Amino acid sequence: MAKYTDSACRVCRREGTKLFLKGDRCFSGKCALTKRPVAPGQHGTGRKKVSEYGLQLREKQKTRKAYGLLEKQFRLNFDKAEKMKGATGVNMLILLERRLDNVAYRMGLASSRAQARQLVNHAHLTVNGHTVNIPSYIVKAGDVVAVKETRKNREYFKKLAETKKLNLPKWLDFNMDTLEGKVLALPEREDIDLSIAENMIVEFYSR
Ligand code: SF4
Repeated sequence: MAKYTDSACRVCRREGTKLFLKGDRCFSGKCALTKRPVAPGQHGTGRKKVSEYGLQLREKQKTRKAYGLLEKQFRLNFDKAEKMKGATGVNMLILLERRLDNVAYRMGLASSRAQARQLVNHAHLTVNGHTVNIPSYIVKAGDVVAVKETRKNREYFKKLAETKKLNLPKWLDFNMDTLEGKVLALPEREDIDLSIAENMIVEFYSR
């Protein structure tokens, strides 16, 4: 599968906002955006007049990259949101938030969405007792997400249980001792902690 291989920090600098793509580093003084808050490249410091289309494009790219999706996957997610009842932009964000890789990240099982995706890909997690290795798997309210019994003794999970850095959104529960969590409810718009103008993404795809 195609994969974005450029530096994660370059993406943040391009979008001009922290997307928290590199785990703990993002919260330290080493964050590239803190040290160099300009767009990458030769003309990064130049002031440019951005068209409305340009602004919409950047909003879409920012959201897509924050969740680590390729354009095709992001568009599929948008198409799915369009078919649902309610506001398309909000539906789209909620679908992104309900992805299993994002849920693992939000439960504190990984320090970035990319790392969480790897945990899912490597079949470390179960949903309702069944192994799920599809990062785009959409969780439902009541689902139980856990680290697979046979993987709980791995050094990574043992260390995680010791550090216990939990900052759970209200729609999720997670127990670091048992490495098990639950989707208490579906997320709502205000549960999404990234600053995103979803209406601009809807306008972008409606052109
Ligand atoms: Fe973005 Fe994190 Fe890199 Fe800072 S350290 S620029 S937040 S990926």
